[in-house]
Amino acid sequence: MNFNLDGAAKQVIADLRELASLTSDEKGAQRVAWTPVWQKARTWFADKARQSGAAISIDPAGNTWATIKGKSDDSVIIGSHIDCVPNGGWLDGALGVVVTLEILRRYGINEEKPTKTIHAVNWADEEGARFGVSLTGSSAVSGDLEVDRIINFTDNDGNKMRDVLAQYNVKLENMLQANQEFKKHNVTASLELHIEQGPVLENQGKDVACVYGITGVERHYIKFTGQAAHAGSFPTEMRQDAFLAAAKSALAFREIALKHKGVCTVGKVKVHPDVVTIVPDECVISLDQRSIDKDVLAKMYSEAKEATQKFAKQDNVKVEWSKIWTIAPTLFDKELVEACKQAVKEETGEPTTIYSGPLHDSAELAKLVPTVMMFAVSQRGLSHCKEEDTPEPKLETAIRAFMRLVHKVVM
Ligand SMILES: [Zn+2]
Repeated sequence: MNFNLDGAAKQVIADLRELASLTSDEKGAQRVAWTPVWQKARTWFADKARQSGAAISIDPAGNTWATIKGKSDDSVIIGSHIDCVPNGGWLDGALGVVVTLEILRRYGINEEKPTKTIHAVNWADEEGARFGVSLTGSSAVSGDLEVDRIINFTDNDGNKMRDVLAQYNVKLENMLQANQEFKKHNVTASLELHIEQGPVLENQGKDVACVYGITGVERHYIKFTGQAAHAGSFPTEMRQDAFLAAAKSALAFREIALKHKGVCTVGKVKVHPDVVTIVPDECVISLDQRSIDKDVLAKMYSEAKEATQKFAKQDNVKVEWSKIWTIAPTLFDKELVEACKQAVKEETGEPTTIYSGPLHDSAELAKLVPTVMMFAVSQRGLSHCKEEDTPEPKLETAIRAFMRLVHKVVM
């Protein structure tokens, strides 16, 4: 490879700093999808991509496509999202979009003609920060966007999603046409560079890793129902305390997570009637369980259910489960994972791998085409906040490794 990888990595960081300075304030990055700052960011990307020799188009879901023709019609998608959460960081999503500018320059204006056609894609609204619909643009492309379910969604100020999207020339009812458009391209691979957003790589002393999959999720509400009673006059052993059964269950979930090396989170606790002198008659908790292995996930789910039934019986209360949302684990394409591990090894000496706990646009792409991701280490594991950072030398290592992967796949 004659290409100057060091210079390219430094240029990507300079571009990232420029984007951050254009779209951040003292609280952090403000590129929330379907807002003027996001529009500014996506226009910035499209302009720079055009200057790099790419042809720009926007699909019916608002995803920006920057294309450089290769020698063959087979094509490779490389992308991520430029939108962020309110008061977000400078790297989440932006890293994977901005790195494509340097890729476009290399294979576009610098005339290192690729074998495969390259589509650099800025996926619209990955975060779902304004309307609560995550992976909007990429799920429209996969065909799984639930248009009927979200058509009347509003933001916190009561603005209708369909009206706001129309201001950005996206017709909500037509977004799934992006799926038909996608099928016209002969896509053979999809690649995404992202920050880890967790502490695992830093803990292992690694700068970059091949991501071989994304965890599945079991997400439920669990409602315990007992009997309200006077806090002074009711003997302990006679109570039907709904909170105690919930609390014991939460402790059991932690043991289940540790035993199976997955994660279990009780993020919501609602106690009724929420009065200091009344034994609670109702307690609703949420449970979010994740694992990369579908059998392990199924086991964690059934063991959690058994635990709640055991403690409900012990405390003489009733327990009911209701599903919020579930998704099976995504395992990325074996060949691409091998290529990705090789690229990481060439850069760092080790073929480090990791799986992702957070969801990404790549989970939607993986439904359609062979897909793989690469993670850059996150300092202190922090993300979705202005403290989100990766030291520049480590970021450069990750960018260089990713550009090595791209070269293997497009040539
Ligand atoms: Zn992201």
